[in-house]
Amino acid sequence: MLALLGTSSAVALAGCGGDGGNGDDDDGSTPATLSDEVADEYERATAINGERRDPDSLSTKDAVNYQDQPQDGKQCSGCAYYIPDKNGDGIGACALVEGNIEPSGYCVSYVAYEDGDTAQAVDVPADARCAVCDMKVANFPEWNAQAVHADDTREFFCTSGCATTYYAATDDFAETDADIAGLWVRDFETRDLVDGTSAVYALETDSDRVDDPMRLNPAPFATRADAVAYVDEVDYLTEEDIVELSAFDRDQASQYRGKFLE
Ligand code: SF4
Repeated sequence: MLALLGTSSAVALAGCGGDGGNGDDDDGSTPATLSDEVADEYERATAINGERRDPDSLSTKDAVNYQDQPQDGKQCSGCAYYIPDKNGDGIGACALVEGNIEPSGYCVSYVAYEDGDTAQAVDVPADARCAVCDMKVANFPEWNAQAVHADDTREFFCTSGCATTYYAATDDFAETDADIAGLWVRDFETRDLVDGTSAVYALETDSDRVDDPMRLNPAPFATRADAVAYVDEVDYLTEEDIVELSAFDRDQASQYRGKFLE
């Protein structure tokens, strides 16, 4: 659980731009600027695949089409060249690309890290049942979620509401005592499967607003900007209703799946 909590604890600050901000363009690309310099601890840091960052031989963000959102479920936090956050601002760096790098970012140089130390999402089996509500998960391709434990026990969920309930009350539903090693949810905007430990969640309370399975779910977003846009559309939600995964305790989960909690 340590790795999971370590990632999620940084989520609230993701998008704040780290060492001066990233200065996104309107088209979603993020050009390198002087204010995009990394903090000293990243200058020659080591990526998760062991590759050392050489500040004199990096690609520009433009050259690799860097964007601050995932693409097709791929994002920097799962890339072999990613250098995870070292100073608590939620932003990391990269062994190939200059500047501050969002864990939810992506570029054309992406290579999935498959050492086995980093958990990966998998395709939903046709017969998988939701570990919380028992619905058939494959019936909800735009809403499903999944989690894997450190002993490789994997569970699937119909929706983010069931996934966050599982996270909040794991002992109620899990068939293993092993810690959760990874969790993925569908981004509300793109429907891509994204890292649920670095996502943020808009705490939707109106079951009529979204035509979603189970009728009420927290809305996951890979980027805080999309979550802010979501809450800005209505009067009854504010930015205080945007939380990270670690905010889901039994009380929070009961708002969405109370009838499944003991
Ligand atoms: S996807 Fe690109 S920017 Fe992100 S960590 Fe990998 S190589 Fe670096």
